[in-house]
Amino acid sequence: MPAVTAENILTLPRIGVTDPTIDRPRPLKSVTTAPSGFEGEGFPVRRAFAGVDLQVLDPFIHMDQMGEVEYAPGEPKGTPWHPHRGFETVTYMIDGLMQHQDSNGGGGLISDGDTQWMTAGAGILHIEAPPEHVVMSGGLFHGLQLWVNLPSSLKFAQPRYQDITSSNVDLLSSSDGGALLRLIAGELDGNVGPGVTYTPITLVHVTIAPGASLTLPWREDFNALVYGLSGKGTVGAERRPMTWGQLAVFGEGSSVTISADERQDSRDDAFDVYILGGQPIREPVAAYGPFVMNSKAELIEAFEDFQAGRLGTIPASPPQKGN
Ligand code: MN
Repeated sequence: MPAVTAENILTLPRIGVTDPTIDRPRPLKSVTTAPSGFEGEGFPVRRAFAGVDLQVLDPFIHMDQMGEVEYAPGEPKGTPWHPHRGFETVTYMIDGLMQHQDSNGGGGLISDGDTQWMTAGAGILHIEAPPEHVVMSGGLFHGLQLWVNLPSSLKFAQPRYQDITSSNVDLLSSSDGGALLRLIAGELDGNVGPGVTYTPITLVHVTIAPGASLTLPWREDFNALVYGLSGKGTVGAERRPMTWGQLAVFGEGSSVTISADERQDSRDDAFDVYILGGQPIREPVAAYGPFVMNSKAELIEAFEDFQAGRLGTIPASPPQKGN
């Protein structure tokens, strides 16, 4: 799992709970296993949030782990052109290449540790696919796509595109150097990640060395979710076992604790997790297919606007090479 690594973790700013007397550890609410499915033209995904109540996930709607899969030549797949309205898609590539183009002129190629942040807002069309040379060669493919809801006041915001390259991610270390943190968006203990978010959220990819433990301060007004990307360990002060492909939901408090097992399977050299939290929007959610609105009437309006071409049109020219 390359994403971004640090040459010397001990030189990074350190983070972690320093005063246990004022800390309120968040209790664990649930650990669920993500079922497998297929997305787009048939690429394998794990539905990270399946079986978890939307109220607990708020402001998040949906998350797919794409792969991890080793494609044979000719096998890599993407999505056809499709619309979105009413939320933001945040795509984080860990291994492999993904090309993106949208009807608003946004797009680009993302790879190891890059994040592509698309605010669909009022409406956009886009296509997400491995570039042609990767389709020819095959290879390793692993990423995440998260859907972040927008409040009713921002559902019709101007579409926006942010390219967060791996070199812009804020790198941090746990207090004892046992965990490497990549802060992608939001605030974490006074540090600020590069992603600009409408809905206040924090996104962190953490690699925890075997046997290491991390207690991370986490904003009390945010929810707290931990998704296992690879390896195994425990979550919460109660040290509940958790592996890759599982989602842990924490209750209220001021910190989250995650530990990596001393012994990992041969294919994993650490416990890698994606930690996410945000300020709940607390509005009714009407989500169907590619649209996330507040009511059924707004969903019908979104379909009508899409069919009338009001969410944009497919650009005539393909994306430029290397863009
Ligand atoms: Mn999409």
